[in-house]
Amino acid sequence: MKETMRAAVFEDIRKISIKDVPVPRIDDDEVLIKIEYTGICGTDWSIYTGKYSSDKLPFIAGHEFSGIIVEIGSDTIGLKNGDRVTADINIGCGHCYYCKKGLTLNCPEFRQLGIHMDGTFAEYVKVSWKLVHHIPDSMDFLMAAFVEPTSCVIHSLKAMDMPVGSSTAILGSGLGSLHAAAAKTRGAAPVIIIGRNRKRLAIAKKMGADITICLDDYPDPVTRVRELTGGRGADFVVESVGTAKTYEQALAMVRPGGTLAAFGITGEDDIMKLKPAEFVLSEKKITSSCAGFGDDWTDAITLLSNNQIDPKPMFSKIMPLEKIEEALFLLQENRDLIKIFISPAEGFEIQDF
Ligand SMILES: [Zn+2]
Ligand SMILES: [Zn+2]
Repeated sequence: MKETMRAAVFEDIRKISIKDVPVPRIDDDEVLIKIEYTGICGTDWSIYTGKYSSDKLPFIAGHEFSGIIVEIGSDTIGLKNGDRVTADINIGCGHCYYCKKGLTLNCPEFRQLGIHMDGTFAEYVKVSWKLVHHIPDSMDFLMAAFVEPTSCVIHSLKAMDMPVGSSTAILGSGLGSLHAAAAKTRGAAPVIIIGRNRKRLAIAKKMGADITICLDDYPDPVTRVRELTGGRGADFVVESVGTAKTYEQALAMVRPGGTLAAFGITGEDDIMKLKPAEFVLSEKKITSSCAGFGDDWTDAITLLSNNQIDPKPMFSKIMPLEKIEEALFLLQENRDLIKIFISPAEGFEIQDF
């Protein structure tokens, strides 16, 4: 085993260094994984710009990953070198009230790989063996690196508990497209997606959206959603943008008795205006989800590997580890791009889809 590896260390706000760092040393209950790909997530931009988890810097970011086990601890069961895997990134303390109830995401000590501790923009990562998920032979490593965002969307979908035939409106055409595909697995109809970028809206259609609303054509999407749903509003509305304004629009789009699914992450101090009458007299509900955890990962792997969800239209590029900073900026500047993956393989050349 090598002593050092190349890694993208997020040193400080807006400062990344590609450098040689020690290969992580595993404990008896851990495995070492050689990384194949890591998807870049909006959270990585938030870490880079100091909006999220900047008190934990410096660390190696990256959390949407796939790879191969290359070393196993003596206290692990059912894993071997060469296994093709991804891993749940969510870690709780294991002994608090929430963890004992299986509510790890609510644990006060909750941490995530690559967000609060070293992650996968590197050649290797170590994880607890219990968090490892095998991926089927039919699933390629790119798809496996997309299990994490899919698990987040599945978690949100389960919280909604959507009956067959529910009209569903989704604000946001980034991960919103994945919500559209997920809603289709529940027989949602029509699935309406709202965004501004026409290329992204075309991708949303490929992913399963029935109707797209371009904000350049319809500056007031609330009225348009009501028009498309018999004047009522949608049975379910997913907020996948993350601003106070879009949350207010999302709640206004929900029909009486319907449900708003909160998914987009706002700034910590953003305030949304709420009229209590929307709940008391209209009986609207809100579900929320901050990550995918545990069986959400199993279910994401099942749906992806059985083609119930095909996220390939969302895949934009693969770039080498050395170009991670360029990739982060590219995603901000070119809104046609949705998902860029990073490969740590030496000499990797850019691939476009
Ligand atoms: Zn992510
Ligand atoms: Zn806990």
